[in-house]
Order: sequence, then C-alpha cells, then structure tokens
Amino acid sequence: MNPASPELTSRERQVLVLTAHGLERKEIHLALRIAEGTVKTHSKRMRDKLNARNSADAVRQGYVRRILGPCGPQCEGCRYWATESRRLHGT
Ligand SMILES: [Zn+2]
Repeated sequence: MNPASPELTSRERQVLVLTAHGLERKEIHLALRIAEGTVKTHSKRMRDKLNARNSADAVRQGYVRRILGPCGPQCEGCRYWATESRRLHGT
C-alpha cells in the first residue's frame, strides 16, 4: 500500500467526502441509506487508515493525501446540501 494514499473502500471514501462537507453520522446514514452502525464502522476504518485523530484530522489528511479535491458536479456532499437548502428555505 502506498503510504501517501492508503486504499480506502468506496464506502470509506464516500463517508470521508460527506464528513468533509460537515455531515454528521445520522446525516451520512440518511444520505447513503445505510445503518448508523455501518456508518460508524466505515468512519472508524477510514480514520484508522488515514492515522487521523478525529474527523477534522481525517478531512485534513484526505486533502493532504489527495484523496479529496475540488468538488465536481456529481459531488454527493454538495448535492446533500443543495437538497437540504431547498428544504430549509422552501425554494
Ligand atoms: Zn462537494
């Protein structure tokens, strides 16, 4: 495994992307339609692989290791907040 970019599973990567967008566990569970306990497991494995102390450190490591980058049009985190924004503001 390349220490600069540890292999994350696609789920672990999704959890990292959503964490980088400020989503909490219960929101990630709704966004990905997986159980909260499963989110917890993916999140812990992801943090362990990145040697991250906490979620903020995981996001930092994600950018430093280039697992995270600028959002594209298909970004799940941006889409989550676009939907939430419409719901909260009614537009
Ligand atoms: Zn985004």
